[in-house]
Amino acid sequence: MNIVKKLVPEPERKDLPPTSELGFGTYFTDHCFLMDYRGGTGWYNARIVPYAKFSLDPAAVCLHYGQAIFEGLKAYRGEDDKIRLFRPMENMKRLNRSALRMCMPQVNEEEVLDAIRTLVRVENAWVPAARGTSLYIRPFIIATEAFLGVRPAKEYLLSVILSPVGAYYAEGFNPVKIFVTDRYVRACAGGVGEAKTAGNYAASLMASEEAKKQGFTQVLWLDAVERRYVEEVGTMNIFFLFDDVLVTPALNGSILPGITRDSVLRLARDWGIEVEERPVSIDEVLERAKSGGLTECFGTGTAAVVSPVGALHYRGESFTINGGKTGSLAQRLFDRISGLQYGEEEDDYGWTEVV
Ligand SMILES: *Cc1c(COP(=O)(O)O)cnc(C)c1O
Repeated sequence: MNIVKKLVPEPERKDLPPTSELGFGTYFTDHCFLMDYRGGTGWYNARIVPYAKFSLDPAAVCLHYGQAIFEGLKAYRGEDDKIRLFRPMENMKRLNRSALRMCMPQVNEEEVLDAIRTLVRVENAWVPAARGTSLYIRPFIIATEAFLGVRPAKEYLLSVILSPVGAYYAEGFNPVKIFVTDRYVRACAGGVGEAKTAGNYAASLMASEEAKKQGFTQVLWLDAVERRYVEEVGTMNIFFLFDDVLVTPALNGSILPGITRDSVLRLARDWGIEVEERPVSIDEVLERAKSGGLTECFGTGTAAVVSPVGALHYRGESFTINGGKTGSLAQRLFDRISGLQYGEEEDDYGWTEVV
């Protein structure tokens, strides 16, 4: 793929934000990647251009009917000053699976990944150096055709933007309090829960706002039919350590297949830990919490790697997990995955690549 580059002259580039102020997703780099799609033509006009607002027709399909998908991955700067990506091809494959579900065109996975590598190289200076910080990479595709009928659009825009982000755990792990909702659902079987599509996140806002108002960090989602089986926690996959067995809900069509989830399963199996992917009911979780058999609970995702859950609140009752402290398996997984991402540990898995 030929990528045309139109770069911002050095003196006009933005000042890099101070590391302490990074937070998540508030600063954007000098450039972005763009590529257009038209039915009959395919993808064309791949370009790296100055980061700027783009214009859309007010009738653009994405604005009305939510034909929009995204991905999220990071570039990590190691002590050796090398910049690494973690399993980026998995993000490309998932982008295509989301596209398929939303009737959007497929991309060439190698070419889009190559565009990401090129963009990260252009923005090399924006990859922060402090341990835990990273450059968040947000590829996304939106339907741009101006048309108010309901059918798949014939024109699309693929973009990749970059945002330097702070350390998720600048002050160490902080196990979170989670509200188990049996009032709202995130996704249902046959729906679009397993696609990383915009509407899923709009649909989740009200539950998480209500949970936050009550002092909780996030919600734990149950299945849409019985409101009984655990699905995800916030925008993360969820794991339980029942005695010595690591259990996570099986991918059932309404759960987003996380790449961190997959990495955790692989590592745990290789460490000789018994692992189960199966339906997990909230009753089972709470019974085990009461009897002392719920040793650990944590969420997994690119943003935090591992996010320990210190307490669950369900139907007026609170259950503390592991005394509200981070468990040793959560810590071990976090250390191992971050060690790989920052190039500090031998990568026997071939999960990382230097950009
Ligand atoms: C992105 C996402 C995850 C985590 O996926 P990773 O590939 O591990 O970052 C989990 N659940 C939802 C709903 C998500 O959007």
